[in-house]
Amino acid sequence: MPLPPASLDLELVTIGTELLLGFTVDTNAAFIGQALASVGVRVTRRTSVPDDGGAIGAAVAEALSRAPLVMTVGGLGPTRDDLTKRVVADLFGAPLRFDQGIWDGLVARFARLGRVPAASNRSQAEVPEGAQVLPNARGTAPGLWLSGGPGEVIMLPGVPSEMRGLMATGVLPRLRERTGGRGAVTTRIVRTTAIPESTLAERLDGVENGLRELTLGYAPGVEGVDLRLTSWGGEPEAAAASLDRAEAQIRAAAGAHCYGTGEADLAAVLLDSCRRRRVSVAVAESCTGGLIGQRLTDVPGSSSVFRGGVIAYHNALKASLLGVPEPILEAHGAVSEPVVRAMAVGAARVAGAEAAVSVSGIAGPEGGTDEKPVGTVWFGFLVGNRVETARIVFPGSRTEVRARAAQYALYGLWRLVEEV
Ligand code: AMP
Ligand code: MG
Repeated sequence: MPLPPASLDLELVTIGTELLLGFTVDTNAAFIGQALASVGVRVTRRTSVPDDGGAIGAAVAEALSRAPLVMTVGGLGPTRDDLTKRVVADLFGAPLRFDQGIWDGLVARFARLGRVPAASNRSQAEVPEGAQVLPNARGTAPGLWLSGGPGEVIMLPGVPSEMRGLMATGVLPRLRERTGGRGAVTTRIVRTTAIPESTLAERLDGVENGLRELTLGYAPGVEGVDLRLTSWGGEPEAAAASLDRAEAQIRAAAGAHCYGTGEADLAAVLLDSCRRRRVSVAVAESCTGGLIGQRLTDVPGSSSVFRGGVIAYHNALKASLLGVPEPILEAHGAVSEPVVRAMAVGAARVAGAEAAVSVSGIAGPEGGTDEKPVGTVWFGFLVGNRVETARIVFPGSRTEVRARAAQYALYGLWRLVEEV
């Protein structure tokens, strides 16, 4: 679909030879597109140019001939290949002036790191006459906002964390003020797991029919299917209300398969659920090789819930550390219902935990049989005296099977903890 109209059009110019050679992926452009859309600014075109004064000047001049507002990213550093400021200042006929305030800030910043600025850093304290300075708390190059005859140019440094910081503090609030939020494209991600995309789509048929001004996109990945609701413009309050309404309908239709919105992480959801119920957690991992433990310990504060566990990859460890009886391993094989059951019981015992999850599967690419094809994974879920098991055959590569299995392990234990 074409880009819907917004309050303000902007062209983006990303600068850096490494972008054209492909050594650096232009993640800044992706971030900026989303961020600007959220305040009602439409990126109508983006261009990437190398660190070459002529190319930068031509790209910015052409962009200004089409759009009232241009944003450049990159080329604001202290080195020889950082040309953006000088070139743009020339386009505006604005001489560069040394700014003592920026210089003092630079000296103080270096002093905190036990260093003194190099001579080349002096250029970073130069400001095109008339430009507004956007202070950069994360680095040495401030952002610059220059208006004049040719139009308006916002210059940001290329280091992604610095660019994001300047967008958040210096750029987005000013642009939102200008647009009043009108024409803003706002997105809400509703995260689901352990339900195939097609099944989810059937369940959401009624919701989709009633969406009116919103669109719904499906983004399947190893953690499940993310549903992307987008509001294309309109008044900010009305858009937020429609997103709320649609989210509630999706949650009702997806039930327990929905575990949150935005950046929600199922490991954190499980840990919260356990914390509320005062349940501690252990893991017994075979084919996931520690991925579940990693997912859990990635979450800050996990130590109040997560005890630890055993990576019992070899059958001998399933027997010696987790107490899985040898005859069961021999009779059923490691990837089997009785084995994951015994692994979960063993993990809870070893760790002294009230809850445990166990995993044993065939991640591939070798090792599959007709009875247990590649992707077959058995799970054991234990809470208190209750043990449930599940068998799933996951699609994909070895990496995908393992990631999907870790996610499903978190899901299954979360559901059992919520039920018990
Ligand atoms: P610069 O401000 O041009 O000196 O950029 C500093 C560093 O930021 C570069 O070495 C890249 O690693 C990174 N960078 C620059 N532009 C981008 C971009 N468009 N996307 C992602 N990273 C970038
Ligand atoms: Mg650069």
